[in-house]
Amino acid sequence: MLKGIGASDGIGIGRALKLVEKPIVYEEIAVTDTEAEKQRLADAVQAFCRRSEARAKQMDETGADGAILRGHIAMLSDPYMLSQMNELIDGGTCAEKAVETVCDMFIAVFSMTDDELTRQRAADVGDIKKQVQKLLLGIEDVDISRLPPNTVLIVDELTPSMTAEMDKAHVVGIVTERGGRTSHSAIISRALKIPAVLSVENALTLLPAEMELIVDGHAGEVYTDIDDQLREQFLEVQKRFAEKVALEEKHRGRPTATKNGIPKKLYANIGSHKDLDAVLAGDAEGIGLFRTEFLFMDRNALPTEEEQFEAYKAIAVGMRGKEVIIRTLDVGGDKDIPYLNLKKEENPFMGFRAVRYCLANRDAYKAQLRAILRASAYGDVAVMVPLVTRVEEIIEVRGMVEELKGELDIQNIPYKKDIKVGVMVETPAACLIADLLAAHADFFSIGTNDLTGYVMAADRGNADVSYLYSTLDPAVLRAIKYIITSARKRGIPCGMCGEAAADPRMIPLLVSFGLEEFSVNPSSVLSVRCALSELDSVACDAIAEKALSMETEKEVSAYLGTL
Ligand code: PEP
Ligand code: MG
Repeated sequence: MLKGIGASDGIGIGRALKLVEKPIVYEEIAVTDTEAEKQRLADAVQAFCRRSEARAKQMDETGADGAILRGHIAMLSDPYMLSQMNELIDGGTCAEKAVETVCDMFIAVFSMTDDELTRQRAADVGDIKKQVQKLLLGIEDVDISRLPPNTVLIVDELTPSMTAEMDKAHVVGIVTERGGRTSHSAIISRALKIPAVLSVENALTLLPAEMELIVDGHAGEVYTDIDDQLREQFLEVQKRFAEKVALEEKHRGRPTATKNGIPKKLYANIGSHKDLDAVLAGDAEGIGLFRTEFLFMDRNALPTEEEQFEAYKAIAVGMRGKEVIIRTLDVGGDKDIPYLNLKKEENPFMGFRAVRYCLANRDAYKAQLRAILRASAYGDVAVMVPLVTRVEEIIEVRGMVEELKGELDIQNIPYKKDIKVGVMVETPAACLIADLLAAHADFFSIGTNDLTGYVMAADRGNADVSYLYSTLDPAVLRAIKYIITSARKRGIPCGMCGEAAADPRMIPLLVSFGLEEFSVNPSSVLSVRCALSELDSVACDAIAEKALSMETEKEVSAYLGTL
């Protein structure tokens, strides 16, 4: 079994087909029988036109536009282009070289113009050159517009152009050597609903062509040694998954509400402004957590206010008035930003992180808050403060926000006057003073990923204590209930942006506690909407009461797991 990143849910069972670009190498021989060489070229051109027309037709049938490919045919059928090639052959040049010389000449001419459309034709000629040369040399490209049924496509990276041509109906799985959860490959495969495992090291070398494979896009695993028992097992999982997806799809575009009509907000978590497509494809109603620290990573210095403004603005504009909650920098703990030169700490999770760092580095924090405020002029933007432990912290951040609003007023820079400032409740201290914090926050969002670790004093990364790390532990459940109840008492909305918001075992309890907003991975939106629609809040109260009466995590998870 090979491990990678599960990027698109589902189980694909099929045969491996490797897509590798073969290099074009030929020997420049002096041609003596020029008539035969011209015929060789004519045959290749004819084959090219036939294939392109067939592909164009196929694209038309599937709703895509085959016009680009018909344009290729028209170009190569141009008598001027062909006669130039034939002239070179008459002079003793081989067909491969003649194609290269003439095409390169056209590419040079097209590339020099200022007109964008003409410049694009240079790329078209490049494509024609490659294809005709391959036909001349007998290099068989895998025609991905016509694939055998049950194909598992193995590629270095899935590109948008490959997707256009790909025989989607016959692809049951995708395995790539490159790409993470937010890469092009990931977004495309999720949009096509094809199970995909990305970043499988050396997949093209390790997986033999034609081999039967099972792609588990949820776990991020590719199985190679398949016996009947394993196949049966995954066929069963696949069947259940297909039924689930079909049911969930019915909820696309529908409002989110419980079975007895209590409306809920269903938002998405993102790590970059580049995740916008995934949010829209996932049908999320807003963004409940924009993890801004990724903007600060993979670089050598802090992003400027301007750079941040552009990223936040892109999301605000892209979400067209839907709420976008931007979390301020959550550095430290497991999120290191090397150029900040944070001191090595004995206990980084208890250390100088998130709002603690930001309040001690006010210039950098001000730049971020200003960028968020400026972006708020373009949509329904809110600020969220991570890792709050004391009332003073949120009071201080609010003070900075007010100060910056004054600055922007003087500079005549627009922003959302009533921008909301919320608290991310993810420490035991914030939970215990949730009643006090609620007086200073416009909203709460529960970060169960951290809250669970802190409440249980268990590091998720430490295998010896990972058994303690469970959101379903009676201690964590009580913490969650208290936070939501405190928010409701004060009349402020409460959401959850930790992974637990998408846990089907947890959702009935969250409904009963009165959680208003669920913020989940974009690909989990429909499944959470579907789960909520099947729950009656009165029934959820009974479930919650029973779960909270249990003494052990084991009992709770067994009970909720079988509902
Ligand atoms: C959390 O702690 O639950 C959370 C959503 O934040 P992060 O996972 O980024 O720490
Ligand atoms: Mg957190």
